[in-house]
Amino acid sequence: MRASQEVRGEKQRTSEIHISGAEGLYTVSEMQRILREYIERALHHPKGKPDTILLTLEEVRQEPLTISTLPLSTVISDSPSEAKKISGNMLRALRISEKALKTAFAVLQKGNMRGAALISADKGMRLEHDRRRGVRVSRLGIAKPALRILSPRLARLGINTDTVKEALTLASKVASCSGVRAELCISDDPQYTTGYVASNLFGYVRIPTLKRSGRKIGGRVFFIREGSDIDRIIQYLERTPVLVDRIGPCKGIQRAEEILDSHHL
Ligand code: AMP
Repeated sequence: MRASQEVRGEKQRTSEIHISGAEGLYTVSEMQRILREYIERALHHPKGKPDTILLTLEEVRQEPLTISTLPLSTVISDSPSEAKKISGNMLRALRISEKALKTAFAVLQKGNMRGAALISADKGMRLEHDRRRGVRVSRLGIAKPALRILSPRLARLGINTDTVKEALTLASKVASCSGVRAELCISDDPQYTTGYVASNLFGYVRIPTLKRSGRKIGGRVFFIREGSDIDRIIQYLERTPVLVDRIGPCKGIQRAEEILDSHHL
């Protein structure tokens, strides 16, 4: 699903605001329910009312690859400046250069992308072919038995929401793509201020107050190892069906240093 709104700017020029998007792997019997849910989501998004909602349904013939969710944890962070410092330190520990961090935060500050920016981990270059759209991770889902394990684990932590489950599924698919070293995400929902850094090394680390409440900025950045085959990465993220069928550990609140120190780099 893709929902957008056309706005008129200076000199009557029109531009498009991305309101909401969603995708998943479902059986035919789930289709009608999911479509209703997606339409509801598009119509009641905090970013505003869309004037266009596009729904695409495609048969997927390829057997999905199966993966586990990344280990989940949440760090303590009380302000956007502390959260930015924590995410920056975590990404530096993952060998993301200062240049790449600068490009990434500029992308997130600008917002209004439908997909993710691909940024080379060392040189900090934008690598995706369409910079306005970005790369949209699609063909991903979570198997029902895995969801039945995940939901109570998240409920014990007070975070059993669609937002967390969908983001964890997406981050786990992204981390399973060879060539992606790390991901940084800030939601563009003005009310949702918790962002995350995801990587195979540290897992899916939720970082509260990564932006100030009420702001529409946000987006996703995937940091790419230098010399990777970009077309192969995009093909995997957008087209290869991937299903979560195993659940990694779901830990509670931790100090950022604990997470960094628990790994010998
Ligand atoms: P959300 O987490 O839905 O608030 O999305 C925040 C931002 O992440 C969006 O504005 C997009 O730039 C990006 N995004 C959302 N969904 C995807 C996706 N499936 N693939 C890539 N980027 C996404």
